Amino acid sequence: MQWFRIPKDIVFGAGSLSYLAELQGKKAVVVTGGSSMKKFGFLQKTVDLLVKAGMEVQVIDGVEPDPSVKTVYDGAKVMQAFQPDWIVAVGGGSAIDAAKAMWVFYEHPQLTFPDIIKPFGIPKLRGKANFAAIPSTSGTASEVTCASVITDYDTPNKLKYPLLSYEITPDIAIVDPDLTVSMPPHVTAHTGVDALTHAIEAYVSTNSSHFTNPLALEAIKLVFEYLPKAYANGRDMEARGKMHYAQCLAGIAFTNAFLGIVHSMAHKIGAQFSIPHGEANAILLPHVIAYNAKTASKTYGEIARYIGIGDPDDAKATERLIAAVKQLNSQVGIPASLQEAGINEAEFLTKLAETAANALEDPCTGCNPRTPDVSDIEAIYKAAFKG
Ligand code: FE
Repeated sequence: MQWFRIPKDIVFGAGSLSYLAELQGKKAVVVTGGSSMKKFGFLQKTVDLLVKAGMEVQVIDGVEPDPSVKTVYDGAKVMQAFQPDWIVAVGGGSAIDAAKAMWVFYEHPQLTFPDIIKPFGIPKLRGKANFAAIPSTSGTASEVTCASVITDYDTPNKLKYPLLSYEITPDIAIVDPDLTVSMPPHVTAHTGVDALTHAIEAYVSTNSSHFTNPLALEAIKLVFEYLPKAYANGRDMEARGKMHYAQCLAGIAFTNAFLGIVHSMAHKIGAQFSIPHGEANAILLPHVIAYNAKTASKTYGEIARYIGIGDPDDAKATERLIAAVKQLNSQVGIPASLQEAGINEAEFLTKLAETAANALEDPCTGCNPRTPDVSDIEAIYKAAFKG
């Protein structure tokens, strides 16, 4: 049995933020990040629209990148005191991820992180509140996914808690490209290549299906065409819009088809050496395609042919896809190797065995089209180190 689960409403288009004025409720908590939503006026707009909907509004702001356990518990306490019937997260993936976890502890104050980190171990939500998510970056697609990542800074290796449950899939996703003008070019690049990785990994995943494949292919095509334009000119609203939809399509694909070892490996090398998530993915992606090609060249060939760079021969088409990913990376300023990304070689080699072992254990490894062992992962890291 397979399934396909997404938010009840996905509202999209320039100006779709105004959908907030149609929500029915009494009280809303708005969760947001640092300063960009405030600076660009979107936080005030969000609050104004909810007030227009007849709601009393409280704001939780200052959610940091890679949000902490403390931020989540503190936010849940604010919600317990205020008792909202809507949680509205507006901002990057971190703000939305943090709001999802706050929602869990608002509805179930007796629980703690260790209780809910088992995959699909989150109890039923929506007894107290519904959830609307409005992304301002074009990458994580947290507005449509069943995932949230929270960091425990009190553990030696800054342990990441990946929460996975369809309970935390938002009820409403508002995909309004206007908000993405707040992204500087490096964020456009990192989030854009993350979206590409989501789509490619979802398409070749062992859990892919007829329901996820068309979305993944469309997302891949859009990213190749529009990411360079959105990166080169942040005011190109056509490119911004296409990228915002592409990342959402990729998110719908991967929340149902899951991911693969690009993400397993990026999670661990990123945490170990502080490489941004999207950048780590983008550097690893060509090397993982080369490794997976032994069992998945037919599916990679399909991708290459769909985006118009294919060859009837799957192996040749896969080579062209690898070249296209490398070209896209260089167009948007992604380093060509882990070394170029600033990782010291001696430190890399010292930590290689541990990092590879951790990557193998990552939940994303299970759906990779080729089953790796730890020496395979080490070899891919080494290839990506040199580029
Ligand atoms: Fe990702």
